[in-house]
Amino acid sequence: MTDLTPDQDAVRRYLCDEAPDARLMTVRLSKTKNDMLDHQNMPLSVQKLCEELVAAACILSHMLKFDGEMILQIKGSGPITMMVAECSSEGRIRSTAQWEDVGDAITFEDFFGAGYLAVTVDPRQGERYQGIVPLESGSISGCINHYFQNSEQLDTKLWLASDQSTVGGLLIQRIPEEGGQTLQGHANWETLSALADTITNQELASEAGPLMIYKLFHELNPRSFDPWDIEFGCSCSKERSARALRALGEIELKQLFAEQPSLTVDCHFCGQVYQYDQADLEWLLSDQPPRSDTLQ
Ligand SMILES: [Zn+2]
Repeated sequence: MTDLTPDQDAVRRYLCDEAPDARLMTVRLSKTKNDMLDHQNMPLSVQKLCEELVAAACILSHMLKFDGEMILQIKGSGPITMMVAECSSEGRIRSTAQWEDVGDAITFEDFFGAGYLAVTVDPRQGERYQGIVPLESGSISGCINHYFQNSEQLDTKLWLASDQSTVGGLLIQRIPEEGGQTLQGHANWETLSALADTITNQELASEAGPLMIYKLFHELNPRSFDPWDIEFGCSCSKERSARALRALGEIELKQLFAEQPSLTVDCHFCGQVYQYDQADLEWLLSDQPPRSDTLQ
């Protein structure tokens, strides 16, 4: 453990020499989360939940190691009706939410009401996979833990916390062993889990990284692997944004263009505004890609 300064927006993996039946992961985001959310004018309470969902997406994406997008989406009946966080296999994240007046909402239930969290693995090649858990666990980390119980059948625990400048996460997972027995003479899963449980939200939010791992697990000789850098990026394009217009149908689209010279579609993830004028109508009504001179 040489570099103990968690100044990077990254996901990291660790193994402990004295607890070989478990893997550890941390995520820490600071600048990236600001780049991602600053333009969205979310109430602070909504923003904190969004940050936690993104942190979870980063950890899951890096853990499953596949080529494509990890998408976490919450749909609820509360003032936050939708929240989504995506992390690509290149470490590119984006997130957004739809909310109404959150008033004096405090608890997870106050914000989301009843609904579900969907974990979608969207590989660039191959089948999409989706697992769904109800919003019954009182927190984003609780829902993800529930997901692991249901689908992965591996003992896994996730902790998430954010403060004004950073969001942090810690995940511990039992590595299945032949025969299912913990190696003799080594710390077991319960010890690791109990040590992880001593973390405070404040420490987790601000210190998630090698230093925190060392503080929590130093007796177990943790070793850190190379960080996986995370950055903000949006995959939107004029062609993709056009889907919203195409969904209106030919009659309504023609009517809208008759009433105004141009239409705009905003990308909620990054704030990019795409403009469509009369000259775009033909390709909007066809399956053709946009005119090359209007590509943005
Ligand atoms: Zn975008």
